[in-house]
Amino acid sequence: MYNKENIFYRILKSEIPAKIIYENDVALSFYDIRPLKKIHVLVITKGLYSNFGDFVANASIQEVKDFWATVSKVADLLEVSRTGYRIVSNNGPDSGQEVEHFHVHILGGEKL
Ligand code: AMP
Repeated sequence: MYNKENIFYRILKSEIPAKIIYENDVALSFYDIRPLKKIHVLVITKGLYSNFGDFVANASIQEVKDFWATVSKVADLLEVSRTGYRIVSNNGPDSGQEVEHFHVHILGGEKL
């Protein structure tokens, strides 16, 4: 059910560039191309999951744990863990999910 015809798959394969913040075995983090807040970054899975439900249903427990630990680490690297931040994941049509590869937005750097 995962469709490789999405922009994040191409970023994962290094077919198109991204401003990368951090990378490990399970996740890749880079700046959102259309920032909605002073700090707006994305953390995407390296595994091919189309949305949150797919990720939770099909990733290993270790992968789920490591992914969320990575989200927290990126917040530390950006120093928004000191000032506060919001994490958001859009899932499905009503949410406006644009890219069908599971990802989390980290928003911060200002009052939200
Ligand atoms: P969502 O609505 O949760 O699927 O959000 C997808 C996000 O990906 C949007 O905030 C876009 O601005 C962002 N985006 C789309 N293409 C790129 C890209 N090439 N590099 C970085 N961010 C992107």
